Amino acid sequence: MKILVGVKRVVDYNVKIRVKADNTGVETANVKFSMNPFDEIAVEEAVRLKEAGKVSEIIAVSLGIAQSQDTIRTALAMGADRGILVQTDVDLQPLAVAKLLKAIIDKEAPSLVLLGKQAIDDDSNQTGQMLAALLDWPQGTFASKITVTGDGIEVIREVDGGLETVALTLPALVTTDLRLNEPRYASLPNIMKAKKKQLDVITPADLGVDVTPRLTTLKVEEPPKRKAGIKVADVAELVNRLRNEAKVIP
Ligand code: AMP
Repeated sequence: MKILVGVKRVVDYNVKIRVKADNTGVETANVKFSMNPFDEIAVEEAVRLKEAGKVSEIIAVSLGIAQSQDTIRTALAMGADRGILVQTDVDLQPLAVAKLLKAIIDKEAPSLVLLGKQAIDDDSNQTGQMLAALLDWPQGTFASKITVTGDGIEVIREVDGGLETVALTLPALVTTDLRLNEPRYASLPNIMKAKKKQLDVITPADLGVDVTPRLTTLKVEEPPKRKAGIKVADVAELVNRLRNEAKVIP
């Protein structure tokens, strides 16, 4: 079985995000970028399935600017076999990403597509669902466990109030949640080996996909600053303040 994994280059989760002075977006100059954490989980899961002998090839795909090659190299160092970069300077929105991935999937014919449940930069949580719809494939979103069964997979999903288990026939699409696994760090020898692995660079035009943005960002703002808390002397004062100042109790 062949697996395709989506790996997005995003601002590292440790970076303190700053909004640009003109409110058009967030500051990306001189900021560390890394693989989207949920995509690291997707790569890790694919590598574990390969180590268990259930997978023959893992293809890591990224869509974005030339530097997204670094993100693919990280996936290759973790254990993916080859990479595809769809290079574009256009700010890609989830529908465009889903269409580009569909075009690659039509050519590569993987049995399983693994994406993150969301990218931590746009927090859209849309690409996997849109892609499954475009492909007309079964989907298991927010996966916390994936088991390969006889002719398909079983996915335990994190849903409001508990866990849901779904059985999917292959080919299928799964998006990863935080508890699925703990991704490995790539070792130095594997980072060196990854430099020699195949990485093809193509463009949206090669795939015949129009990636023109459909949504316009009007404004990006910092969340309102929280007011400092206060200390109360005793329970009586707490009740008094909750009743008369916060007005949250009768
Ligand atoms: P989103 O719908 O934007 O929150 O993204 C969900 C998932 O789709 C991510 O975790 C990735 O696996 C995949 N994805 C989104 N954008 C890209 C991209 N530009 N390149 C590769 N994968 C992507």
